[in-house]
Amino acid sequence: ITAKIAALPPSTPYFSLEFFPPKTPMGSSNLRARLDRMSHSLRPLFVTVTWGAGGSTADRSMELAELCQRELSLTTCLHLTCTNMKREMVDRALEDAKALGVRNILALRGDPPREDYKDGEGEGGGEEEFEWAVDLVRYIRKGYGDYFCVGVAAYPEGHADESHPEGQSLEHDLPYLVEKVKAGADFIMTQLFFDIEAYDRFEKTLRGHESGVFKTLPIIPGMMPIQSYQMIRRTTKLSHAKIPKRIMDRLDAVKGDDEMVKKVGVDIVGEIVMHIKDSPSPQPRGFHFYTLNLEKAVSFILERTKLIPGSSTDFESAITEEPLPLPL
Ligand code: FAD
Repeated sequence: ITAKIAALPPSTPYFSLEFFPPKTPMGSSNLRARLDRMSHSLRPLFVTVTWGAGGSTADRSMELAELCQRELSLTTCLHLTCTNMKREMVDRALEDAKALGVRNILALRGDPPREDYKDGEGEGGGEEEFEWAVDLVRYIRKGYGDYFCVGVAAYPEGHADESHPEGQSLEHDLPYLVEKVKAGADFIMTQLFFDIEAYDRFEKTLRGHESGVFKTLPIIPGMMPIQSYQMIRRTTKLSHAKIPKRIMDRLDAVKGDDEMVKKVGVDIVGEIVMHIKDSPSPQPRGFHFYTLNLEKAVSFILERTKLIPGSSTDFESAITEEPLPLPL
């Protein structure tokens, strides 16, 4: 991913699309058709495949990664969580990814195990060595050197969980984010957000941080297309992302009309993308879209914001996947 970003012509924006592994064969064949269409018409720089915490989707995530990387020749990033995961599961995921030619891992902690099996007993179990995402970053670097390009998660409004009951804050997370980058992370991908001021503050804080580690690191903001009124309320509640009043008012005004919610949603996310796209950056601007495996809203936003690559030769060479020699 970082090599592809570096190969982009100066100031050329890019985007990535996130997919989760469907639960049923029918879901898989629908997604396959959709992925095929989306990869041709939208041309993302890369795609990402989510991982169920504790390895609950391990096989299905790997199948989807195989479809993306091997069959559709898309640069693929596999999300991998480490908490509540046996070391053998982490090893298997990394080995399988390598065997598929996947060169990118988003190294995550995952959600912590429930109290009743925190001691490693019961479902999943876990290794003491994998308490935080930084442990996984170190583990990957130790075992695989530079083979994988490693991304880590960050939270423009601060990460929310029981480990800091005083409330979520960027300031709380910052030392740990610095640690993840020093341990070898190559890029940062953010939690979804709608509060553009919070994002601006986040990016400014990182770029100006005294450690200097974020100075030129790719920071890819996470965008959630608005699919429906209920869905956006639910996802923002789960992710603890705030919806500023002026945005909520626009959605509230049309909440009885699903089509209008989608339309206003495209306007809202399009405006956020344009704001970020037009602000200065030491790196080409990138955007990560949480597609929820849906096609339309993200396609409209990409068209609206002119993120779909044209056919410039330079860009073509940057986005075309070179077939990788498969490891033996
Ligand atoms: P960490 O970096 O370990 O941080 C977790 C929290 O602990 C933060 O508040 C941090 O400040 C704090 N912390 C870190 N180190 C320490 C320390 N040494 N001492 C005290 N506090 C510390 N989840 C999934 O299950 N599957 C996915 O596919 C998935 N994809 C995601 C993609 C993106 C882009 C993002 C932003 C999140 C994703 N998540 C996914 C969710 C993620 O797993 C959870 O938010 C998880 O609770 C935190 O993961 P992390 O990697 O940010 O953890």
